[in-house]
Amino acid sequence: MRRRVIAGNWKMYKTLTDTRAFFSSFLPLVAGAKPCDMVVAPPFTAISTAVEAVKGSSIAIAGQNVSWSQEGAFTGEVSAPMLAEAGCRYVIIGHSERRQLFRETDDNVAKKTLMALASGLTPIVCLGETQEDRDAGLTEEVLSRQFSGGPCALTPEEFSRILMAYEPVWAIGTGRTATPEIAAAAHRFLRRCAGEKFSIRHASALRILYGGSVKPDNIRGLMAQEELDGALVGGASLDPESFAALVNFA
Ligand code: PEP
Repeated sequence: MRRRVIAGNWKMYKTLTDTRAFFSSFLPLVAGAKPCDMVVAPPFTAISTAVEAVKGSSIAIAGQNVSWSQEGAFTGEVSAPMLAEAGCRYVIIGHSERRQLFRETDDNVAKKTLMALASGLTPIVCLGETQEDRDAGLTEEVLSRQFSGGPCALTPEEFSRILMAYEPVWAIGTGRTATPEIAAAAHRFLRRCAGEKFSIRHASALRILYGGSVKPDNIRGLMAQEELDGALVGGASLDPESFAALVNFA
């Protein structure tokens, strides 16, 4: 049985004051229960504040992005050792906003994943097709290309330390969730890719999160699919009550 993960991606929201206020409301709502692995990815500036706020709880903090280099003259970048030192345990890599708005390639994703693993971080590697891809019947081709260009570069041991997130671009921040069946089919396909490249054992241990407009009112249907091992949540992770509802459901 794979343990579920509910991960919140705050994107470019929340100041330090907002971060403290979030956790002081959120922690009591999830206290005691350890229903799933909980992860929150604040903006870089709020990481230390978030790490401090969750001390003593089972909540892990994540970076939203990481450099593919260990250090160097890369203005504006943050390295994996820096994230680890700040207290992060996870990092989101290859989010569709990074791929689309900042031109991140599969090759960048592969390098970032290796860098994150080398620093002991757990990468959450995001993949997903656009609406045009889906309309053109290219979903599996796109997922296969993103899988081959990214996680395929890992050794089997490295692969066993990553999470993947299936995030159809057309469902992110749009209020349009993939149906549980559409999500499960994509997860099954990704698991098949993992089985072909690595092994059946690796494929069945791999945790794949679904992301795309997950809310308290649709989590039940999504989590009824055993292919879905949790959720990567944007909008609904900003509010302590809705994020707690997702965690407590999972
Ligand atoms: C995301 O940013 O990864 C995401 C899934 O966002 P939302 O839940 O708002 O669609």
